[in-house]
Amino acid sequence: MTDGRAAFGARGRANEPLAAHTTFRIGGPADFFVAAETPDGLIDLVRVARAQQIPFFVLGNGSNILVRDCGFRGLVIENQCDQFSLDVLDPTRALLRVESGAVLPGLANRLARQGWAGLEWGIGVPGTIGGAIVGNAGAHGACIADNLIGVTILDADNVVRELPKTELAFAYRTSRFKRAQDEIVLRAEFEMTRDDPHACIARMQQYVEHRRRTQPTEPSVGSIFKNPSGSAAGRLIDQAGLKGTRVGGVEVSQVHANFFVNRGGATANDVLQLIEIVRERVRAKFGVELELEIQVVGD
Ligand SMILES: Cc1cc2nc3c(=O)[nH]c(=O)nc-3n(C[C@H](O)[C@H](O)[C@H](O)COP(=O)(O)OP(=O)(O)OC[C@H]3O[C@@H](n4cnc5c(N)ncnc54)[C@H](O)[C@@H]3O)c2cc1C
Repeated sequence: MTDGRAAFGARGRANEPLAAHTTFRIGGPADFFVAAETPDGLIDLVRVARAQQIPFFVLGNGSNILVRDCGFRGLVIENQCDQFSLDVLDPTRALLRVESGAVLPGLANRLARQGWAGLEWGIGVPGTIGGAIVGNAGAHGACIADNLIGVTILDADNVVRELPKTELAFAYRTSRFKRAQDEIVLRAEFEMTRDDPHACIARMQQYVEHRRRTQPTEPSVGSIFKNPSGSAAGRLIDQAGLKGTRVGGVEVSQVHANFFVNRGGATANDVLQLIEIVRERVRAKFGVELELEIQVVGD
């Protein structure tokens, strides 16, 4: 990593433990870790990494990834680009332009309090706008694709391009970005709708309350598996008798069986073993193949 040290050593940190940057609190060190605070800074880091053929990945809020225990040999760019602007189009609509590192709950909350509806469902989804677009995050019957207009990306040839929603191949918890993983989401545009701030806030409180009743509070990455069509992964895992099953420091949550929780000191290896146990038992009992919703990163 001599090249990496020259390129990134002064801008960031070496051997940064990624556990500190994921909601699971799991993950070994990255060779280099640099935060990008502006889209131009993000573009520059990606271009340098590509030019020097240094492996890299863009980290949002680390709420949908499992970083392996050996960490990541290369550069992790933490996306802290979080500026946004609101352009009121008419009394009922506004155009939201937001950088991809803005964190969804904070953004949804700020907009809702100003009476702009459209992202309230995201109040309990602890990721960035970029991460939400990559995985087409959703909750409470809505998803990020719903009122998205388009995005600005850095493509695989280092060209900045604008793409309308119709080119993003959104489907259940996936998009063109999750499939290809060689394009970076820099900014996004959403159409927001005027509503009574009290109504927006009430909706968010209802969602928060629902999560409080149905989801664990220990460190996790949300749902581990996608819901198989016509079924819920959590229900299958529960009915297979797996709630509370534990490997090392990680456990199938007693509250929501599709959440694995870090009970302290869990390793990525523990999680990978538990994933296999759950998959095998669900396959044996129901003949259903569970597909990962989270992304596994690193060596
Ligand atoms: C308690 C809890 C509850 C959750 N509830 C939900 C829920 O209700 N619904 C739901 O859908 N999800 C839920 N999640 C999962 C997670 O919050 C979402 O998937 C979120 O959108 C991930 O965003 P992130 O910024 O954390 O992405 P990260 O985990 O940081 O990254 C995920 C992937 O996206 C890539 N990526 C991130 N940003 C960019 C970018 N700008 N350009 C290109 N690639 C990028 C990364 O390289 C990585 O491959 C929950 C998680 C937790 C911990």
